[in-house]
Amino acid sequence: MYDVVVVGARCAGAPTAMLLARQGHRVLLLDRSAFPADKLSTLYIQQPGVARLARWGLLGALRASGCPPLDHVVYELGDVRVEGCCSGIDGIRAAYAPRRSVLDPLLAGAAADAGAEFRDDCRVTGLLWEDDRVVGVRTDRGEERAALVVGADGMRSTVARLTGAPTTTSHPPLTCAYYAFWNGPKTHFEMYEGDTGWVSAVPTNDGAVLIAAYCPQQRFDEVRHDARAAYLDNVRTNAPRLYEQMERGRQIGGLHGTGDQQNFFRRAHGPGWALVGDAGHHKDSLTARGIADAFMQADLLAETVGEHLGDRTRLDAALADYDREREQRLMENYQATLLVAQAEARDKRRALLRAVGSSPELTTRYFDAVAGIVSLRELYTPDLMALMSAPTAP
Ligand SMILES: Cc1cc2nc3c(=O)[nH]c(=O)nc-3n(C[C@H](O)[C@H](O)[C@H](O)COP(=O)(O)OP(=O)(O)OC[C@H]3O[C@@H](n4cnc5c(N)ncnc54)[C@H](O)[C@@H]3O)c2cc1C
Repeated sequence: MYDVVVVGARCAGAPTAMLLARQGHRVLLLDRSAFPADKLSTLYIQQPGVARLARWGLLGALRASGCPPLDHVVYELGDVRVEGCCSGIDGIRAAYAPRRSVLDPLLAGAAADAGAEFRDDCRVTGLLWEDDRVVGVRTDRGEERAALVVGADGMRSTVARLTGAPTTTSHPPLTCAYYAFWNGPKTHFEMYEGDTGWVSAVPTNDGAVLIAAYCPQQRFDEVRHDARAAYLDNVRTNAPRLYEQMERGRQIGGLHGTGDQQNFFRRAHGPGWALVGDAGHHKDSLTARGIADAFMQADLLAETVGEHLGDRTRLDAALADYDREREQRLMENYQATLLVAQAEARDKRRALLRAVGSSPELTTRYFDAVAGIVSLRELYTPDLMALMSAPTAP
């Protein structure tokens, strides 16, 4: 009998297990993958996520992996270029983009160090029920009982399916994403938006740079037939200087990609169960918030339910509180991501970038909003709105 079984041991599940184990609970952490296992991701952890790693005592190990700090950001949209950095949180101004083969084992290792029992290569196939309450999991190695089962098992969550967690908000997919790793290009964290898509350059471990190219979902069927040609064409068209660097460099490994970037919220709690991370909420990866958001939800769930695991009534009330607060914290950026991922809203984004580029203070506030350090309400002040609607020189 455990206090908590956590299903899924990456950005959402491993910190949830670590934090609850640090509170002294008996925690079982399961993942169907044999670790270390790679995962689709463009790797970028926004500063609030990095600050959580620091608070959890894990930033030193991340830095020791040789992952470079990213404290200078370049955004280009057509003829508008903005560069700078956010003001920081807890004194942390740098983002990091560790390979998932570095980050995920680090997080699962921290959970095990905190006292959680970690079993990889172990798939959850069913849930144990008492009336309408989840009281454990069935795995390919046997059954385990717990006061709380946490589904941290990603966008296609088995726990969400088995509990029947309803989708409360959803929107159609907006983009598709392809990326590869390169040796040679020397870049900051850079983001380019052109007429046919979005391109980003993300420095990561071992001196490599991940170069990603996103295009609108409507083109996915066409693009997937020759994904490599479409990827190279996207970078050449929308980030030509970066493309020149790629031509002089060398690709490491293959091309990775997906057209299945769902946008939804699911109800994330019920009697004896909760969802964290992508299992309960997913959005287009263009705004690179999934990892920091998963960390936030792990913190929130552990804080909210940690004291109530011994009492079913109080636990269920705490789970409802967690879900309400989670949605409130995540909804603004969800809506913003839907706008960022719509090619049709490009003129508005150009006006915004031009306006924030007009002063260093506005530039910093813009990068604070992008990172999730300040809310969009704090960015869109009347002054900024006036600048955005001012006519531009012909
Ligand atoms: C192309 C792409 C690029 C992205 N880029 C970024 C980025 O730059 N920055 C960012 O912040 N976010 C990015 N994201 C999003 C980010 O990767 C996710 O939000 C984050 O990984 C979510 O973590 P998670 O732990 O919730 O889920 P996952 O990382 O999906 O982990 C779920 C785990 O559950 C396990 N599992 C599933 N089913 C079972 C089962 N039945 N039994 C046992 N285990 C199970 C899986 O093996 C897996 O290890 C990107 C996503 C995509 C697709």
